[in-house]
Amino acid sequence: MSDNSLRVVWIYPDLLSTYGDQGNVLVVERRARQRGLDVARLDVRSDQPIPTSGDIYLIGGGEDRPQRLAAERLRRDGGLDRAVGNGAIVFSVCAGYQILGHEFINDLGQREPGLGLLDVVSVRGEGARCVGDVLGDIDPRLGLPPLTGFENHQGVTHLGPTARPLAKVRFGNGNGTGDGTEGAFNETVFGTYMHGPVLARNPLIADLLLKLALDVNALPPTDDRWYESLRNERIAAAQQPA
Ligand code: GLN
Repeated sequence: MSDNSLRVVWIYPDLLSTYGDQGNVLVVERRARQRGLDVARLDVRSDQPIPTSGDIYLIGGGEDRPQRLAAERLRRDGGLDRAVGNGAIVFSVCAGYQILGHEFINDLGQREPGLGLLDVVSVRGEGARCVGDVLGDIDPRLGLPPLTGFENHQGVTHLGPTARPLAKVRFGNGNGTGDGTEGAFNETVFGTYMHGPVLARNPLIADLLLKLALDVNALPPTDDRWYESLRNERIAAAQQPA
């Protein structure tokens, strides 16, 4: 943290912010402020340089063409790579998740290089688009309650050896590989297919990002009864027969 304020960077709101993904930055800000932290939020449009001194970077989902434009600009800019090299935490959703991997298939049907910050490769799924509610169990080492979210993607993401699946789905597709995995993470970089916005539905993931950024094991508790009732509602809804 610089200047005693947590620097939260929202990358390319003009290109990557579908399905309310902007809510993720609001949740990180709010959860930090609830713990008495001062937050400096920076929204970085795609014609602006990515600052390298952020603590937490958030990237949302997007349609195929904006996704390609975002990948081109992020590669050219290089700031996010440098920030991760400095130890920054990154949380990405859907198109943002695919961009952080080694490559994905762009809107022109070509292989588009990503940033290689996560050991994943995305291809175009041959089957139906993955759309709908998802319920999953997050990797137990992260100590988090079940994940809920909404997915809408054609891409299918394969994990390499240095990426761990973020969750195993009980319902839904997640990475779309058929093995039940959803999302990926390493020490500091996270990716998920969950929209919703995912941090509003799973605020303890926002707390995890804060703990990693602050390098602490625990945060002061918050009253999360509302979130818990929302999650239970989503779990019950997901279990209803179609
Ligand atoms: N264009 C990507 C896909 O369909 C990402 C979509 C999204 O971000 N919702 O796989």
